[in-house]
Amino acid sequence: MSDTKVYLLDGGSLVLDGFHVFWNKGPGGEIRFPVYSILVEHAEGRFLIDTGYDYDHVMKVLPFEKPIQSEDQTIPGALKKIGLEPKDIDVVFNSHFHFDHCGGNKHLPDAKKICHKSEVPQACNPQPFEKLGYSDVSFSAEAAEARGMTDQLLPGTTAQNSTFEGIEGDVELAKGVKLYFTPGHSIGHYSLMVNFANRRPILFTIDAAYTRQSLETLCQASFHIDPVAGVQSMQRVKQLAADHDAELFYSHDMESFETYRTGTLFYE
Ligand SMILES: [Zn+2]
Repeated sequence: MSDTKVYLLDGGSLVLDGFHVFWNKGPGGEIRFPVYSILVEHAEGRFLIDTGYDYDHVMKVLPFEKPIQSEDQTIPGALKKIGLEPKDIDVVFNSHFHFDHCGGNKHLPDAKKICHKSEVPQACNPQPFEKLGYSDVSFSAEAAEARGMTDQLLPGTTAQNSTFEGIEGDVELAKGVKLYFTPGHSIGHYSLMVNFANRRPILFTIDAAYTRQSLETLCQASFHIDPVAGVQSMQRVKQLAADHDAELFYSHDMESFETYRTGTLFYE
C-alpha cells in the first residue's frame, strides 16, 4: 500500500476588508488572502477537497474581491503541474459551497461528489445575507435550476453527474482521512484531518478559522450562518489539534500559506 500524500493546489488570491476577515474586530483595510484546494493521494483513490474559485465568476459577480489567478492556479492547470488531469480525480468533497470552495467542480464531471446533506439545499435556497457566498452554483444542476441560474452550467454538467452524496456528523472519507463537522461558517461546514506514515497529522481548519489569528482569538469571519456554532467549532478545532498532536493549516492566511508546500511539492 502506498503512503498517503497531500498536495495543496494553489488557486490564486482574493481581497476582503479586514472587518470581514475579523468580524466586528478588524482593523479595516484590504487583506489579500490565498485560496487553495487539497489533493489527497491515497491507497483508496484520489480525493480532492474543495476546488477554489472561478476567475470569470468572481470578475462578473464579485469583482471587488480583485481576483488574481494564473492558468496554473485553475483546477485543470494545478493538476497538470503535477502530471494529472481532471478525470484522474476519483472523489470531490466540498467542505461547503461558498464560491471560493466549489468554483472548479465544473471541471470534474467524472468524479463522485460528496458534501454535508444540508449544503446543497442551502445553495438552492440561501439566507438573503448568504447569496453572494453561494453565488457560484455551477457545481450543481439542481442548485442552478433552483436559483434560476442555469446559465452558469457548463454543457457537460448534468443532474446525474452533479448529484452529491450527503453525509452528516464526523465521517472517515478514507482510512486516516477524517472529516470533522464544524458548522457555523456555513450550515454543513467540515474541517479535515489527514494522517501520514512519516509525519504529524495535518488538521485543515478550512473556513472554521480563516487565519491563525482567527483561531487564537476565536474571531470568525463575518460570513456565517450561526456565529455561536462558529465559536464552538473553533474551540473544537483547537481541541482536535491538541488531542491528535496535529499541525493546523488555515484556509485564508497569506502569512501561513507562504510557508506551505505547493506546486509539485507535497506532504507525506
Ligand atoms: Zn466559506
